[in-house]
Amino acid sequence: MNRPNIVILGAGYGGMMTASKLQKKVSADSANMTLVNMHSYHYQSTWLHENAAGTLHHDRTRMEVDNVIDTNKINFVQDTVTGIDPDNKKVSLLNGEISYDYLVIGLGFEAATFGIKGLLENAFTISSINKARLIRQHIEYNFAKYNNEKDKKQERLNLVVGGAGFTGIEFVGELANRVPELCKEYDVPRENVRIINVEAAPTALPGFDPELVEYAMNSLEARGVEFKLGAMIKEVTADKLVYEQGDEIEEIPTNTVVWAAGVRGNSLVEEAGFESNRGRTPVREDLRPNGYDDVFIVGDCALIMNEETERPYPPTAQIAIQEAEHTAGNLKRIVEGNHNLEPFEPNIQGTVASLGNKDAIGVIFDDKKIFGWTATAMKKIIDNRYLWKVGGAALVLKKGKLNFFK
Ligand code: FAD
Repeated sequence: MNRPNIVILGAGYGGMMTASKLQKKVSADSANMTLVNMHSYHYQSTWLHENAAGTLHHDRTRMEVDNVIDTNKINFVQDTVTGIDPDNKKVSLLNGEISYDYLVIGLGFEAATFGIKGLLENAFTISSINKARLIRQHIEYNFAKYNNEKDKKQERLNLVVGGAGFTGIEFVGELANRVPELCKEYDVPRENVRIINVEAAPTALPGFDPELVEYAMNSLEARGVEFKLGAMIKEVTADKLVYEQGDEIEEIPTNTVVWAAGVRGNSLVEEAGFESNRGRTPVREDLRPNGYDDVFIVGDCALIMNEETERPYPPTAQIAIQEAEHTAGNLKRIVEGNHNLEPFEPNIQGTVASLGNKDAIGVIFDDKKIFGWTATAMKKIIDNRYLWKVGGAALVLKKGKLNFFK
């Protein structure tokens, strides 16, 4: 094989970082490198809850791929992947087909709805720029509509979020900041609006340090968030959410349910015939799926085990970025004719969850707990560090979160 064809699917954290590292490590003379993505832009999924709440414009979250990737080295194809045929080394696109010698799959996540009745049809998910923009506009429309109807409908002002995990908590934090602004803008009394977080587990942020959970809940409740814990969502319709708590079945009238309680890997990967464990593909230590030495899977589509806990690592941007950097290194080895690939080991540097724009919680350096301004500043540093890695100082200046006091 003279110049191998390396094809990367998806320009999210995993795909974008693979491309960004490959363009530095591998010369265009030694490999054809192609990045395929459905949009012309890359977006940071970890900021989508801010776009959905309306606290950050979505143009801050997205960036044109060809502003960040050197398209003289990496061909960029804007198209939608419709199928992967790993036995024939081909990828079907909406507008054609592409063949590869080596494939990197970074097609990200989609909502897992666990068969809950009406959820797929009636709930929103925070899973892309388009979906986040729809949530923002839907909430604004309901605020506007509320005062233009004779009989005021409370369901327009009940904002329900399913799930008090990382994403659900970050989203209600943004809503707690946004709602007072919306009330002012649309002449709605603040006390008429409810932000309700419904969680099946007995606690918010299951698995987090209890002191941090208590801090987070106090911070959010003080800004008007109501928690319904141990509450199992049973059904969602266009104007209500039904849940079971204890032995009681309860209903919340609402036009707005945002589902933030479960993700799985992109179903295209399972449909391609790769092994699947709850929608993610188990990969070997070099991030290749069983049976395929010419395919790497990075990010939320891949399942890697934490040997200490004997549970899979949760899918995060942090791991997607590390897997991508690692895969770029292994592809460089392959291009140079060295097929002894390095095993991947995640290096978890901490976890920080925002609670709105002025508060956050987190754990860094293994066990150091951080709260408030320190955690908010740390979150911004993490975000800026990614921009630095993928696009250097220029990208940090253009898209970074540089105001540490707001
Ligand atoms: P993504 O970043 O989702 O990228 C997938 C890409 O593939 C997208 O560009 C998409 O457009 C493209 N694509 C999808 N389907 C197709 C197709 N058929 N054809 C072509 N292109 C396609 N993680 C953290 O580590 N820290 C956090 O603080 C954090 N906060 C989060 C907050 C929210 C609101 C959400 C939703 C997630 C958060 N996460 C966080 C998780 C993190 O965003 C994901 O783990 C991460 O985005 C996974 O990266 P990825 O490259 O696998 O997928």
